[in-house]
Amino acid sequence: MIQLEGLHYKTREPVKITVKNGYITAVEKHTGTPENSIAPGLVDLQVNGFKGIDFNEDGLTVEDVFEVTEQLWKVGITTYFPTLITNSDEHIQATLKVINEACQQNELVNKTIQGIHLEGPFLSKKNGPRGAHPLEHIKAPDWNLFSKWQDVADGRIKMITLSPEWENAAQFIQKCTTWGVLVAIGHTAATSLQIDEAVKAGAKISTHLGNATHLELPRHHNYIWDQLAAEGLWASLIADGFHLPENVLKVFLKQKHGKCILVSDCTKFAGLTAGKYTTHIGGEVELSDSGRLFIKDNPQMLAGSAQSLTWCIDHLVNTGITTFSEAIDMASFKPLSFINNKSIKDFQIGEPADFILFKSEKDKMKILQTIKTGEDLSNLFDF
Ligand SMILES: [Zn+2]
Repeated sequence: MIQLEGLHYKTREPVKITVKNGYITAVEKHTGTPENSIAPGLVDLQVNGFKGIDFNEDGLTVEDVFEVTEQLWKVGITTYFPTLITNSDEHIQATLKVINEACQQNELVNKTIQGIHLEGPFLSKKNGPRGAHPLEHIKAPDWNLFSKWQDVADGRIKMITLSPEWENAAQFIQKCTTWGVLVAIGHTAATSLQIDEAVKAGAKISTHLGNATHLELPRHHNYIWDQLAAEGLWASLIADGFHLPENVLKVFLKQKHGKCILVSDCTKFAGLTAGKYTTHIGGEVELSDSGRLFIKDNPQMLAGSAQSLTWCIDHLVNTGITTFSEAIDMASFKPLSFINNKSIKDFQIGEPADFILFKSEKDKMKILQTIKTGEDLSNLFDF
């Protein structure tokens, strides 16, 4: 049994949480004066890589998966979905195999990686919506292919981002839903009707709404309005301060109130120092002192995200777009509620004991301790 004390991230009241066998057994008011705050562990459903390792590069090893997971623990992540982007069949299979092996070899990694997010290859071929996904590997939804990948992954693919603009998209979405795979709409140029059909077939969320789009869209009939208007459809947002302007974030958060999730969509450049780097597909990118990752020869173009969830939380709070507890919820209880299809709003008896202890320093969250199913991972931290 362990007991944790901290200022509750919502109420700011001292709280004492008792943990047994990895689960919360009691949540009580505390009479002491803890210095640090306690919040749920952070949950990131879109992680391409971290600190020099990318899940999508050739030659990924089990140790690489361990290393990324450990680095993510240090920034407060207790649950995440490694995210595989569009690639060849062989490449996707090889990567799924490695991630599956990593989960089988280490129980703590297995508990942290609660699913794999497959972002592609059933996306839009159109420039803009396609983003950086390689055109040569984009294809129509293919259930046999997907089933093969799911076998290789031992059933760990829990989420797929696709574009409903393919003719057979609705049937494919229905099959995914039947088999318990969450379907996200993303990298799409779909029509209003196609988006409507996708939602009716079971699509549950928009992936990084507002990004991976055309630079210009028809003012009324477009896929952003359609997804915003779709009742019941959740949205994941990259709130790093670079991917979406503040006013857009404000409007999205208002319209999707209670159904918003923060994702970092971080690449291997997250956690690295500012400088110039070469990507695995050969392009030169630059990470600025301000944390923005862009194409070196075309600084207007973002080259993905280089920030983790705490950065996104800080951005929402420091710009006054949300309160601190709202931002934390969108990076913890909301994604957990989404993937588990149940409403989790606070520390609850019977839930896994995943926490962060932290303090705020100069408008930034500083993670002091990460606890995964009752296990203190702070020996990984350098104080
Ligand atoms: Zn994407």
